[in-house]
Amino acid sequence: MRMSQQWMEPHYDATSLLAAWVVAVYALYLQSLVVRRVRAHDRDTGFAWVLGGAVGVGTGIWAEGLLGLVAVQLPVQLGYVQAIVLASWLPAMVMSAGTIWMHCYRHLAVGMRIMGGLLVTGALCLLTFINASAIVLQPKVEWDVGYVAGAIALMLATCVIGSIFIRWALRGRLSHLRTLAVAVVVATLFRAGQMLILMGMNVSSAVVCLSADQVSADSLQFLLTVPVLIMLGLVHLGTVLDDRAMRKQEALTVSLAQAQAALEEAAQQDAATGLLNRLGFEKALRLQLEGEGSGDQALSVFRLNLDGFKSHVETYGPDMGDTIVSFLAGRLRGLVRDGDVLARSDTDEYLLLCHGLSDEHQVAQLAQRLGDAVHEPCLIKDQDIILSCSIGIASFPASANADQLLHHSRDAMLTARKAGGGVYCVYERGMDHMGLDQVEMQRDLRHAIERNELTLHFQPKLRASDNALAGVEALLRWTHPVRGSVSPAQFIPVAERFGLIGELGLWVLNEACRHIRMWHDAGLNVPVAINLSAHQLRQPDLELRVRDALKRHRVPARMLIMEITESAAMDDIDASLRVFDMLDDIGVRLSIDDFGTGYSSLSYLRRLPARQLKIDRSFVKDLASSLDAQAIVEAVVRLSHALGLKVVAEGVETQEQAQILAHLQCDELQGFLFAKPMPESALLAWLVQRGTSVPSANQSVHVHAGLDEEDRRCWSELEAAGS
Ligand code: C2E
Ligand code: CA
Ligand code: CA
Repeated sequence: MRMSQQWMEPHYDATSLLAAWVVAVYALYLQSLVVRRVRAHDRDTGFAWVLGGAVGVGTGIWAEGLLGLVAVQLPVQLGYVQAIVLASWLPAMVMSAGTIWMHCYRHLAVGMRIMGGLLVTGALCLLTFINASAIVLQPKVEWDVGYVAGAIALMLATCVIGSIFIRWALRGRLSHLRTLAVAVVVATLFRAGQMLILMGMNVSSAVVCLSADQVSADSLQFLLTVPVLIMLGLVHLGTVLDDRAMRKQEALTVSLAQAQAALEEAAQQDAATGLLNRLGFEKALRLQLEGEGSGDQALSVFRLNLDGFKSHVETYGPDMGDTIVSFLAGRLRGLVRDGDVLARSDTDEYLLLCHGLSDEHQVAQLAQRLGDAVHEPCLIKDQDIILSCSIGIASFPASANADQLLHHSRDAMLTARKAGGGVYCVYERGMDHMGLDQVEMQRDLRHAIERNELTLHFQPKLRASDNALAGVEALLRWTHPVRGSVSPAQFIPVAERFGLIGELGLWVLNEACRHIRMWHDAGLNVPVAINLSAHQLRQPDLELRVRDALKRHRVPARMLIMEITESAAMDDIDASLRVFDMLDDIGVRLSIDDFGTGYSSLSYLRRLPARQLKIDRSFVKDLASSLDAQAIVEAVVRLSHALGLKVVAEGVETQEQAQILAHLQCDELQGFLFAKPMPESALLAWLVQRGTSVPSANQSVHVHAGLDEEDRRCWSELEAAGS
């Protein structure tokens, strides 16, 4: 207000100013709480909160504006036109509704926000002018443009700052202190703006108030403070109660969801073992198969069915049954990796889902370990219990979906059980119709060792240059009580499928070493070659077994040759390299069998520490008739010699073949032309017949077949260590 002689100098009532500020702070604080309520609800309830909040907050804004005006005191008696006072309530409310609505949108376009800010500023100024017109003065008030412009600028700034601060206060969880601080800052700026407008009022010193008989300043001050604060308090209470109710409901929803999840989990769990049950397993299996990237992941399902479990339960009682199953579950858990799923699918059955077993050897290894874990004696309630299980295995993608995996693992398990139990069986297409023949053969094979039905036959290998004995190959023979002699080509694959090859291989290894030692003691020194199957290559304890056999029979490693087919060696190059290196470290000599039938990469062949390469029979067979076969053999010989390998030709049946092979620089020859595989006694007779002196009971003539200085030294060292 201009301080000039013809202008009146107004005073400001501190109580009204304070009341205006308090009401403004409270209203703005409430505005943030209301925005939170709107955001927390759905559309309809949110809308109700926008309206209800606008009434509360709008009334607060209206009251604080009027209280600001009431604070203005002139030397004349002032009165306020009731109709105008009431009329200014409407724009205050509309403005509040707009502000609340605007803040409810987290991501409002910048343009919209600027528009909103301008509207709010305009509404605020309008409100102040409407309020000011409630006092009717004669002569009229003159407005100072400078003050009014300053006030508008300040209001605009308040809107910008307020909008930023309120958004900040609304972010994250509710902090009352932060919200209150923002309300204080914005309300103070806001009041300053309104004060500036009032200060721009120029009132003549000769002024007369025409509305002096209307509502008085005192009653207006009371009405705008006490009832308005009560009303704001009620809105506040509403927000608190609503928040609480909502929290309760949320907590209820959460606990309901938890209860539901717990129920679902319980329905998928086996109470006795704490493992998943069949339902849970199937769900996990389907989930894994549907999961991302499952299409290129190997999955295997192992079904372990305890053999003769019912008779155990009958003997020891049903309680014991659960105890045994829980005990074994603990053991099996120890073999399972993270991410694998173990379940108890039936009284006497477990299911295991494994991922990442990339080939049949890894599957076979795990099956072997699972079987061993079950078979290990359990001491339960002072009872020594020995169990075994039949394991059926099916793998994805060979079994294309969850149903097939479950079905096929069952078929395989039933086959293993039919085979007498205690073995595993990998599902193969057509297994459901698989002849009993294989199953029976497998069952009999399991007893072949203890029933002494296995023997080794020996087939000599001769040096091509002078036909001297270079060594013998040990070939397994099985004389079945009913079937008679069964070919290894028939029973070795069965042994591999049913997990018996480890035991057979061990028997062959020991038998071969026993012969080497026995013959050596009798003065006959012959290196013996044994065949190693692909499954044996992956046996984790192969090293131990080989070292043990050599030690037990006191045989130098050099006397033992291990033949591994080219295809088995190339199957998993890295694993082969490790095993070959390990065997080479022991000192065992390695030979690549059936060369030419696999797909060797020459660079790998170079890295394998093999000593010998056996050209497959198929090439030898065609040698006399096919120039191609000759060219191939010639190339193989040259390549082998370049790599430092000796070449053995197997399946030599005619003199002509032998001559060609000798001409092509083959080192050793093996085949029916010289001798068939034969029992030990026949081998000794064959040696005698060839003119080789063979040790008998009272004479000992040393035959050093292919023995060099190094061999002799090894033997001497062993003997020295033994004596
Ligand atoms: P292999 O290692 O290639 O063994 C050579 C096979 O050729 C033997 O068959 C042998 O009797 C046969 N043979 C030898 N010379 C001639 C010949 O001049 N003409 C013809 N037509 N055949 C000849 P066998 O004993 O039936 O063995 C078959 C296969 O069984 C072996 O092939 C070997 O892979 C496997 N095998 C034999 N014993 C064992 C063993 O102890 N462990 C493992 N893992 N496999 C074995
Ligand atoms: Ca062989
Ligand atoms: Ca061979």
